[in-house]
Amino acid sequence: MQAERKYAIICALVQEKLLVDVARLKPGGEEIEGEVDAIDIAEEFVRPFGGIRYRLLLQVFGTELLVRGDLEQDFDLVCSRCGKDFDTTIKAAGWTASFPLAEGESEVDLTEEVREAILLELPNFPLCDESCQGLPGVEAADAAAFAAASPFQTLDAADFAR
Ligand SMILES: [Zn+2]
Repeated sequence: MQAERKYAIICALVQEKLLVDVARLKPGGEEIEGEVDAIDIAEEFVRPFGGIRYRLLLQVFGTELLVRGDLEQDFDLVCSRCGKDFDTTIKAAGWTASFPLAEGESEVDLTEEVREAILLELPNFPLCDESCQGLPGVEAADAAAFAAASPFQTLDAADFAR
């Protein structure tokens, strides 16, 4: 676990760029696939690891580059209920963006938009599991044990309530 954390922080500090040379694109459009280390956050509760994996269709329409496809990035997040670390993959599926093409320039930098697309998908309140019981651990364990106990106990309790 400790080793994983160190790895995540080192990767978070590396930043690459996702550049497209429009002049070299096939006329009908072209699909590109790869990975780019473009997330530069090194926060305590949000640690990216690896790069953004992308599969994008690039097409030029007039003076614009249209980009469509799927993005995903692995993160080590901290659960907002129990405080536990967990690994998850944040996806931006069916992402689209258009980039104006500057006269005389054929290189387009997709990095910032790709990065934003992933950051937008980060949950405000990450959960290690939809059914996370939260803290404190001992009580959560007790609650689970109680729920797993004989269903007749629950029925009895309901009768009392009436
Ligand atoms: Zn949790």
